Amino acid sequence: MAGKVYLVGAGPGDPELLTLKALRVLKAADVVLHDDLVGPEILSLVPPTAQLHNVGKRCGRKSATQAEINTLLVNYGLLDLQVVRLKGGDPLIFGRGGEEIEALRNANVEVEVIPGVTAALGAAATAQIPLTHRRFSSSLIFITNHHSNSASTSDWPGSISPTATVVVYMPGYAYAATARQLVAAGLKASTPCAIISQATRSEERVYITTIEELRSAPRLPAPTLLIVGEVVRLAEHPSLHDQVSAREEFLPLVAQVESFAQSEGIAEVSERPE
Ligand code: SAH
Repeated sequence: MAGKVYLVGAGPGDPELLTLKALRVLKAADVVLHDDLVGPEILSLVPPTAQLHNVGKRCGRKSATQAEINTLLVNYGLLDLQVVRLKGGDPLIFGRGGEEIEALRNANVEVEVIPGVTAALGAAATAQIPLTHRRFSSSLIFITNHHSNSASTSDWPGSISPTATVVVYMPGYAYAATARQLVAAGLKASTPCAIISQATRSEERVYITTIEELRSAPRLPAPTLLIVGEVVRLAEHPSLHDQVSAREEFLPLVAQVESFAQSEGIAEVSERPE
């Protein structure tokens, strides 16, 4: 009898962001193949009887290729085993989940996807950045700076609305080039940006700047995420208290939001959507 493969999102780091469904499936796993982004607290939930494979990229050794991972998944899936493919964040956002589903379908192996909290949502939550805001942001773009086949960033949208929030996954440290792409897509150089490092983990740090100052931003420890858009002015995080200049510059917008909320009576209607 064939088994089943679960593509499971482990969330951005904080183990409490794992879903109950992910936890249930993980606890009953026979085999777990995980990425480097999945931290030790979550891996400690895997039963000791399960086989644990790190198919990630770091630890100073060569990672498994996507084709090798697909083959492992299919081979385990064809046995009578409960297989968990555990990925950071959500398995279907910049996680190659689509390629794994395709390989499993082609081999007639049953597959189920269990979503996870993607890094953008975890980072926005802890930095208190509303990714959409009735007044400042009406759309949300998830983009990656990393391309598997080339170093080109030509897949960036040709134009980005100033009322969009842009979240750049795998932003790397070529900040000057990223800033050029953002400006080429039509954003003002003064648009605020937040670099969020190790979101939802105890080491999390947030650095706020603007597109034009991005090139002099510090290289915070990976994984990092870049959030760009007017809503970044609303960020609040303990690590920002070391960055007095940025906070002072952005304070007027916070005041504007508060007066807008008062004029709309938002404080009294807490469950109204944006
Ligand atoms: N499937 C994942 C994304 C995988 S791509 C998800 O849904 O979140 C890997 C990239 O995700 C990293 O380079 C980084 O940009 C981002 N990322 C993942 N976890 C993160 C974290 N805890 N803090 C900041 N960025 C994170």
